[in-house]
Amino acid sequence: MIHIKENHSLKPYNTFGIDVKARYFFRANSLEELRDVLENHRDCFPFMIIGEGSNILFTRDFNGLIVQPAIMGISILEDDLEHCFVEVGAGENWDDFVRWSVESNLGGIENLSLIPGSTGSSPIQNIGAYGAEVKDVIKSVKYLDLESFETVVMSNPECNFGYRTSIFKTQLKNRMVITSVVFSLSHNPVFNTKYGNLQAEVEKMGGLNLEKVRNAVINIRRSKLPDPGILGNAGSFFKNPVVEAEIANKLKVQNDLLPLFPVSEEEAKIPAGWLIEQCGWKGKRIGSAGVYDKQALVLVNYGNASGAEIYDLAMKISDSVFDRFGIKLETEVNIV
Ligand SMILES: Cc1cc2nc3c(=O)[nH]c(=O)nc-3n(C[C@H](O)[C@H](O)[C@H](O)COP(=O)(O)OP(=O)(O)OC[C@H]3O[C@@H](n4cnc5c(N)ncnc54)[C@H](O)[C@@H]3O)c2cc1C
Repeated sequence: MIHIKENHSLKPYNTFGIDVKARYFFRANSLEELRDVLENHRDCFPFMIIGEGSNILFTRDFNGLIVQPAIMGISILEDDLEHCFVEVGAGENWDDFVRWSVESNLGGIENLSLIPGSTGSSPIQNIGAYGAEVKDVIKSVKYLDLESFETVVMSNPECNFGYRTSIFKTQLKNRMVITSVVFSLSHNPVFNTKYGNLQAEVEKMGGLNLEKVRNAVINIRRSKLPDPGILGNAGSFFKNPVVEAEIANKLKVQNDLLPLFPVSEEEAKIPAGWLIEQCGWKGKRIGSAGVYDKQALVLVNYGNASGAEIYDLAMKISDSVFDRFGIKLETEVNIV
């Protein structure tokens, strides 16, 4: 028999540490429990799925049902001289899986070390860091379809992965629950240490192997990003805007120091953190909501901020970037 909790505090379930409540909350330990709770209760109230809440900002209590898929397990499906195909349950912590892969001498996700969250969420916004994206190692994603209540296996090309997006964040949003992901890891890793100061950090360790790359990524991340256990945050609050090359070039003429990263011949990516910093927001604080002093892209909760306060700050930032540069920032964090 399933036990749904009532008026359940979400403070431990979101890395911003926002103190809101869910009217109903259920942690599903198996596919059967997940199917049971959603088939029987989904239409009664608004519902949402939560992983580890590291990409969510709750702006008020959730007057409905929140379900956390806690399907666990890491199983090797197939192993040959080159690749190892591993199926990972949605509820497994992402970084625990990265550690497992490095300890098993399997390459492909070491650059994605220390990204918070569950493995089931990793395909949703196609998590990425240090020149790597999870789409490059995903073979398929298994989900529970919330119309047929059957499980569906979607191959990588069908997932429509893009920069911080996928079919799960667009067409299939609220229509499925990811239950497991199959990854293709490599016995012969190709190291990618070109991004930022990763190469220099790896060199400090002497030699190149999976463990050293993982440790280098962890060191850099710890030096740049606030630990949500100490200072509530959800990582990058906004996506880096991708704009038409013509617009980007015009902005570059007006702002000599503007960093531009070509995405294609027609488009370029601009670091949102740079735009926010230019508008004077870095290190600013309004009440308990603030902009992290080492990285303007990260909004932080200095203790008792409400989700609405953090959201208001985000909108003020976005308006000022628009007024100065004519660029509309899009949130990376899911606003609830
Ligand atoms: C300090 C910090 C650093 C970060 N750095 C990075 C980074 O470098 N790169 C990066 O890409 N991200 C980064 N993030 C964002 C975050 O870690 C990722 O987006 C992560 O994948 C979110 O996982 P989660 O389980 O916490 O998802 P949640 O925040 O719980 O959920 C995110 C969304 O996915 C939905 N969802 C969750 N699980 C499922 C499921 N099983 N099925 C269907 N829908 C589901 C939720 O409804 C919600 O809409 C960072 C966050 C923090 C706090």
